[in-house]
Amino acid sequence: MNERPRTPRVTVFSLGGTIAATGAGGDAQGDGVSPRLGADEIVDAVPQLGGVAELETVAFRQIPSGDITLADLVELADEISRRFDDGVAGVVVTQGTDTIEETSFALDLLLHGERPVVVTGAMRNPTMAGADGPANLLAAVQVASSAEASGLGAVVVFDDEIHAARFVRKTHSSSTGALRSPSAGPIGWVSEGRCRVVLRLARLASPVVGPTGVIPSVALLTVSVGDDMALLAQVEASGYAGLVVEAFGAGHVPARVVPRLADLATRIPVILATRTGAGEVLQGTYGFPGSERDLISRGLIPAGFLDGPKARVLLSLVLSVESDIDAVRSAFANFNASVGAPITSHGS
Ligand code: ASP
Repeated sequence: MNERPRTPRVTVFSLGGTIAATGAGGDAQGDGVSPRLGADEIVDAVPQLGGVAELETVAFRQIPSGDITLADLVELADEISRRFDDGVAGVVVTQGTDTIEETSFALDLLLHGERPVVVTGAMRNPTMAGADGPANLLAAVQVASSAEASGLGAVVVFDDEIHAARFVRKTHSSSTGALRSPSAGPIGWVSEGRCRVVLRLARLASPVVGPTGVIPSVALLTVSVGDDMALLAQVEASGYAGLVVEAFGAGHVPARVVPRLADLATRIPVILATRTGAGEVLQGTYGFPGSERDLISRGLIPAGFLDGPKARVLLSLVLSVESDIDAVRSAFANFNASVGAPITSHGS
């Protein structure tokens, strides 16, 4: 049996982003803010953390989150595994919010242990009134150090809410409540410093055993009204090994686009997602040319409830170990089946 230490050890990895961003002279004057603070400085700004956990810090990257690559995340996941092997109770990752919905999901796919990985950040940088980074970091450490969070996988803690990585999205460009889970809502929250988990999700059937080498490029294209998607002709020529299409509504594209998409789907995996931001692509309702039934019958692979950016993460990681189109199809089917498993209430 694993005895939890009385003061849990938590490792905080900083990757940059707004939570780490100041101006060159420490304030926002001049040329604007950029990621300049490392994990030590971010942690030192929150004295309340000392009463929650014994913290170790790792300044892993100092970049805007748009510069994070999947290779960075594979390296981070390896480093997190080493820390878990070394006995830390949980991990917090601080980073920019722009890509938190993808990075947290990638970590969820790459790590399979029971101990929590909590990703957080800030919408207001440390030079602003009401900066939210310290409160988000405190809540993230409270979750990461809590026995309650065991088995959650990777989550995003923001604005005192706990979001499953598979559902969370950045839904606003500046609001401190930007991180939401439109399809499912938060799975818990932090109240009076206590981590409260009210929904436990089935663990993902991850098809990924850890990328062994190169992570191939995957394109993401969004359909819009009147577009003939001429860019489809460039996908293979640009070196993409797969494509995610964010289609209209339930998974629809203009009829005139179908031949190009169908042709592409014979050579590389083409995933069909919805651009709506919530819900899942349908599979058997509409029958017109360009409908979800038409596209799936022509070889496109339904993304299920995954939005375009998350489907792209899954496809990229699957393609790093498996290039066969039918294997990719099975991986997406297995993944969605695992998510359809019953959601049980905590304690069951
Ligand atoms: N605006 C972003 C943030 O919230 C910048 C980034 O994602 O790095 O941190």
